[in-house]
Amino acid sequence: MKELIKKLSESFGPAGCENNVRSLISDEVKKLNFEHYVDTLGSLIVKVGSKGKQRIIIAAHMDEIGLMVTFIDENGFLRFTNIGGVLTSTLPGTKVLFQNGTVGVIGQEKIKEPKELDFSKLYIDIGASNRDEALEKVKIGHTAVFMPAFHQEGNRITSKSLDDRIGCFVLLEVLKRLPSSLPNRLYFVFTVQEEVGLRGAKTASYRLKPDYGLAVDVTRVGDTPEPDFKMVVSLGKGPAVKIKDSSVICHSRVVNLMIETAEKNQIPYQLEVLEQGGTDAGSIHLSREGVPSGVLSVPCRYIHTPAEMVDLEDVENSISLLVELCKTSW
Ligand SMILES: [Zn+2]
Repeated sequence: MKELIKKLSESFGPAGCENNVRSLISDEVKKLNFEHYVDTLGSLIVKVGSKGKQRIIIAAHMDEIGLMVTFIDENGFLRFTNIGGVLTSTLPGTKVLFQNGTVGVIGQEKIKEPKELDFSKLYIDIGASNRDEALEKVKIGHTAVFMPAFHQEGNRITSKSLDDRIGCFVLLEVLKRLPSSLPNRLYFVFTVQEEVGLRGAKTASYRLKPDYGLAVDVTRVGDTPEPDFKMVVSLGKGPAVKIKDSSVICHSRVVNLMIETAEKNQIPYQLEVLEQGGTDAGSIHLSREGVPSGVLSVPCRYIHTPAEMVDLEDVENSISLLVELCKTSW
């Protein structure tokens, strides 16, 4: 279990550049002999079962947040913009990795007030002494991600991009555990470009015309020292059944099915209302004439930092709940 989570989360895959993650996932899917293909924008679609009545999309996104080079100065320092929701406060002193293996450190210009810290005050130092030397390693438009530093401490795992490689892992594990006969036609979709606007899920759902949609992604928790932030979701108390976030109000039919299935199978679960943030369900539910959709969330601390943290028991319970949902008539 741990090895595959490590490989997935350490893989390089900022939005728009998911090929490494996709080949890792498709290698796993090939071992399981499921029919699969890559759609026009690059999402990987795995078909499971051909007889069932309802067509259900189950989506997890392959991409992660990242940085893109916009300018290289005469001394070889790189300026950059964000790919997705990068928090400037996490950047100074952080190491980043480019696809070709180049490593940089993020430096920060002097500021008077913390609120002045925006992307214009930050740069990447790749150890080049001038522009030409920098250009030998990195070009305008190249992207970087947080330096991988996977670690397990007891039942908890920290790594970059558990958002949403942990969702990709859950989908892969569910594929391994499904019985041969199922009541629904399932499409496991590993989507591209979620972090920049739920884009891969949008085109994949248009193509697949699902009757229902379910996204598997991480969600915030309220169990860390933040006296002013109230949220009931905690690490280690089971997968969260999303009720609402800024991209979707989950369909009651899907929410109730998730709750009934968890209770019937004695799988712990939590109810989630996320005040800010979205998932692929935001796109799926607005596809064509509308698709009743829900979200199964893996609780995660420190989302969009180099050290996102999940609990392995939550991961295991997320897998169990999704297996049971796949075996249920929708
Ligand atoms: Zn995500």
